[in-house]
Amino acid sequence: HLILENISKTFRGTEVLTDVKLQVGIGEFICLLGPSGSGKSTILRLIGGFEQPDVGYILLDGEQIQDQPPNKRNIGFVFQDYALFPHMTVEENIAFGLKCKKIDKQQMQERIRFVLNLVGLTGLEKRYAKQLSGGQQQRVTIARVVALHPSVLLLDEPLSNLDAKLRRQIRLELRALQKKLGTTTIMVTHDQEEAMTMGDRIAVLQNGVIQQFGTPLELYNHPVNLFVAGFLGDPP
Ligand code: ATP
Ligand code: MG
Repeated sequence: HLILENISKTFRGTEVLTDVKLQVGIGEFICLLGPSGSGKSTILRLIGGFEQPDVGYILLDGEQIQDQPPNKRNIGFVFQDYALFPHMTVEENIAFGLKCKKIDKQQMQERIRFVLNLVGLTGLEKRYAKQLSGGQQQRVTIARVVALHPSVLLLDEPLSNLDAKLRRQIRLELRALQKKLGTTTIMVTHDQEEAMTMGDRIAVLQNGVIQQFGTPLELYNHPVNLFVAGFLGDPP
């Protein structure tokens, strides 16, 4: 479904990704796990089309997409620390992306209703984004992308600015939502517990190299090296 083939990427003479390979099946939930600076966001930006690989291919349903601009890819992106438009209502925030896609008014209303129901925010359509709690805002950022019906959903640490309790709650909600929609999802996190509880499979990244790609159980029972073992750590 989505394949990264031997991707390498250099910024100003420094290689930040080396020979990255990833094969993601339809409807899978993949976690990209690794320390700060290991290249997680760069991988998402390459898939989203905001960067181009120096070497390698990206295939979506058999078609090479690495040279296509972001708006041609049908890939939804929730950026790290990406905020809502504070001066727009919840409804307007969601409608904004739909207008860019030239979706007609009636369908727009239906999609807004549907996604707000999905994330449990029905009734708050007229609220300004700045009048929502952190968790509610986070749900809107997810609803806004889901409304675009992407074939792949990219989430860059979508829960990182929430407190621990809310994080656990939205984790479950997000996973349930993803299962229901069946949207192929790649989520970046540097939180091993988050990756272990959410991912169908986890890719562990160190200095731009995927050290291991497997199910949480495989990684836990058979870490390929000390970095993976150490990074997963002891169970809490
Ligand atoms: P974090 O957990 O802190 O978000 P990350 O794993 O997402 O880290 P990336 O943002 O992918 O890491 O960055 C990987 C490396 O590439 C870092 O060393 C970073 O400084 C470098 N880098 C990323 N984008 C650029 C850029 N546009 N220009 C130069 N260097 C960059
Ligand atoms: Mg990052």
